[in-house]
Amino acid sequence: MSELLKITNLSVKAEDKELLHNVDLIIDEGETHVLMGQNGAGKSTLGCTIMGSPEYTVTGGNIYFDGEDITEETADKRAKRGIFLSFQNPVEIPGVTLSEFLRNSLEQLTGSKMKIWDFKKKLHAAMDVLGMDRAYADRELNVGFSGGEKKKAEILQLLMLKPKLAILDETDSGLDVDAVKTVSKGIEEYRKASNGTLLIITHNAKILESLTVDKTHILADGKNAKDGGGELAFRVLENGFGEVL
Ligand code: ADP
Ligand code: MG
Repeated sequence: MSELLKITNLSVKAEDKELLHNVDLIIDEGETHVLMGQNGAGKSTLGCTIMGSPEYTVTGGNIYFDGEDITEETADKRAKRGIFLSFQNPVEIPGVTLSEFLRNSLEQLTGSKMKIWDFKKKLHAAMDVLGMDRAYADRELNVGFSGGEKKKAEILQLLMLKPKLAILDETDSGLDVDAVKTVSKGIEEYRKASNGTLLIITHNAKILESLTVDKTHILADGKNAKDGGGELAFRVLENGFGEVL
């Protein structure tokens, strides 16, 4: 299998404070990795840095995607390469419907216009997987959406945009058991339908149960603390970090 994401010796700062120190991470194409660590360990910082958020400055090391050095690339170029980040708290976009947003994103990614009927067919198929009422497509993005609806809208993006690498930052937080099942089904569908590659930040075993986790990475104080196979994630979720750190 080929390396999709390779991070070497990565150090990152924000507001003059170093938050990540010499972090390494390799994810092969088609694999599912889990990123763990206590609150404040640097998980979201790493996710945002991979996506190219201007909030964070790389002070050392490199990020390679598909064999190319993207360390200095802007977030929209990275999105075009197929990197997707779902936020812990999705943004609201008044004036733009979910449907318009998705169509626009798809056209930006592919660089070509899409026929409305082709788009609608795709959209409805993806909404059906998530058991979403089709009326949601005509609502303004995330405006007045419940926590669960926002997360579903994000998984809908995943199914429609089919990124090469999806980074899911606590997509399960604040969801009830049924919503967790739906989100997990959507992630599984993305894995299968597009041989997607995943980096999942989670504290929820339920979200991982239907997935085959290939590797687990634990961060502590902005450093690599421990790496292991899929079983490590489940061990930590059951027993806490105490046993492994
Ligand atoms: P996690 O997602 O693992 O809970 P974060 O990556 O959000 O942790 O945060 C790691 C550390 O970096 C925390 O101490 C946090 O306060 C700090 N941090 C995150 N973003 C910024 C920022 N933009 N400016 C300053 N400090 C930040
Ligand atoms: Mg976080």
